[in-house]
Formats: sequence, structure tokens, C-alpha cells
Amino acid sequence: MSRVFNFSAGPSALPEEVLRQAAGEMLDYQGTGMGVMEMSHRGKTFMGIAAQAEADLRELLAIPASYRLLFMQGGALGENAIVPLNLLGARTTADYVNTGHWSMKSIGEASRYATINVAASSDDRGFTYVPPQSSWRLSDDPAYLHICTNETIAGVEYQWTPDTGGVPLVADMSSNILSRAVDVSRFGVIYGGAQKNCGAAGLTIVIVRDDLLDRALALCPSAFNYRIVAENNSMYNTPATYSLYIAGLVFQWLKRQGGVAGIEARNKAKAALMYDAIDRSALYLNRIAPADRSRMNVTFFLRRDELTPVFLSEAEALGLAALRGHRAVGGVRASIYNAMPLAGVEALVAHMRDFERRHT
Ligand SMILES: *Cc1c(COP(=O)(O)O)cnc(C)c1O
Repeated sequence: MSRVFNFSAGPSALPEEVLRQAAGEMLDYQGTGMGVMEMSHRGKTFMGIAAQAEADLRELLAIPASYRLLFMQGGALGENAIVPLNLLGARTTADYVNTGHWSMKSIGEASRYATINVAASSDDRGFTYVPPQSSWRLSDDPAYLHICTNETIAGVEYQWTPDTGGVPLVADMSSNILSRAVDVSRFGVIYGGAQKNCGAAGLTIVIVRDDLLDRALALCPSAFNYRIVAENNSMYNTPATYSLYIAGLVFQWLKRQGGVAGIEARNKAKAALMYDAIDRSALYLNRIAPADRSRMNVTFFLRRDELTPVFLSEAEALGLAALRGHRAVGGVRASIYNAMPLAGVEALVAHMRDFERRHT
């Protein structure tokens, strides 16, 4: 067996320890004589798995007691519709900050249910930065303000948390949740699919402040109604049991890495290594404003574009997989989520240096 360094943007690499543990427990979970995906979500064993995952994630993110942690399905794109259905209440307008591809997806979906005010947009410079809060224009009485804290495709990340006063701040954190410390109390809702930084696809993590649980529109489907899901401990209907189990193993692994503080220090070092290699080179170019560069998705272009396919195929041959940039932007994208070891980034940087030396 030989495993590659997998730079996939999502679904993405999992810690090898987690995969080994899951493999070991596949046929017989801790003496139950059955695998986790075969057992009832209402049985004692699975309820224990879910409770432990919840407790660990609460500890990792220091989620205050006044917030509910929901394990849902439908991914971030599902949440794009579920957020307005749950939060509009008597209001009709919601504010969105547009920093790129995933922000636009959120806006598009929400505009089916609400009047959208785009409070700020970085489209004037090709979505290469986060508009400073001083430039935001909020509407009079929005139901909430929505941001995407890490634009996975372009590689743009908030390095700060907006202050929206009394307006609930809603964040799509699909691609940077658990990668860095966040003050949950600054947010009304945080959501994200598990498949980037927390495990396998199928599970959506939602953190919602208690006082926002009574604003759902009557037409909101029950299985996607935050209050109903919260009151049923995320078991109103069958949750994505196996994905939840895997996420639980990832949370335990994260605790062994020193929690969010430990992994954040490692993530900073990995990102610094990547951007340093790009900035020191005459061949590679990153187009994102330095202050807003993502620690999770490092994008770059080769100044000689005809070399990009050569760079990628040589990388593949070296066991550096899934580096092709998103089809909408091209170039190269290295997604270096929590599970990417420093050694993977070092191997990529070595390839970049060697490639540049041979081609210039
Ligand atoms: C991957 C991603 C999405 C899409 O998530 P799905 O789980 O496929 O719905 C949305 N937003 C961001 C920021 C992402 O990285």
C-alpha cells in the first residue's frame, strides 16, 4: 500500500490514524459484533458515539452553553437555503458580503426566499481580497449578515471577525472550521460540511445561538428546522451515522494534536512555508492580497502557463495528488487542511523549487 500526499479541496485527506482506527472497527465496533454503519442511531452504542462527538467538538471550539450544536445533512449548499428559512422570521431582508464563488452560491440560493442586500463585494478586483468592514453598507434591519470565512476556490480567508452589533453574524466555515481559534460568541450561526476539515461527506455541522431558534418560516421543512433538530438532539430523522462517527474520530485526533491551538500553530507554519516559496520565486504567483491569504487553500499560477500541466503531472508522479486548480480559475491549488502533514507541504515546496530550477 502506498498513500500519496492528497491536496484535494474536498472531500479531502483524513488523518491516517483515523482511517486505521475506522478500518480496525469496521466489522466489529468495540465488541458489539457489528459495524457502526449497521447499528441503530437510537441504540445505546451509537448514542454514545454521538454524545462523545458533540462533547469533543464543544470542547475543541469552546462552544458556549447558549449555543446548540446540530448534526445535519445537506451540506453547505443545503444550509444556503436552510439559513434564510430558519432566520428570516418576520423580516424580509438579509445582508451578504460577497467574497467569491461560495458567497455567490449562498446569495443565489437565499435570494429565492429573501431580499438580498450585498453589503460589500470584492468583485471589483476579481475576488482577491476581503472588503474591510469600514466599506460595508448594511441594510436598515437585516435578519442576519452572512459571510464565507474561507473562499475555498480562490483561497481568500478572513483573518478577523466582523463586528455586526445586534445583527446575527452567519458564517459558512466549510473549509476552515477547526483550523484556527474562533470566538463562537461573536456569531449567530456557524455552519460547514464535514468533508474538508472534519471527516467524511454527508455530515453538516451547524452551531446556532439559542435565541435564533424561534425564527423559522412556517414553510421550513421539519428535518431542516433548527429548533426541531435541536429538540431532538439531531435525531429527528436518521443522521449521517457513519460520517458522524468518523468526525468523532477526527475530533479525538485533534485533541491529541493539542486541540485547535495546536493545529492552528501547525497550519500557520504550513501556510507560511507555501507562501514564502511562492513569493521568493520568479515562476509562481499568488494573486490574493497578502493580508487575506488563506491558510487552508493556497492557490498559485505559473507565470509561464504552458508549464502548468507539466508541473501538475510531475507532481502526480511524485505522489503529490489533486493539485489542479478549480476549473473556474485554473492554475494550482494546494488544499492543506488539518490532516495534511508538514512533510506533505515540504515535499510540494521541494518540487516547486526543483521544477523552477529546471525550467528557468
Ligand atoms: C465545499 C464548500 C461548499 C459546498 O459544500 P457542500 O457540502 O458540497 O454543499 C460551500 N462553501 C464552502 C466555503 C465550501 O468550501
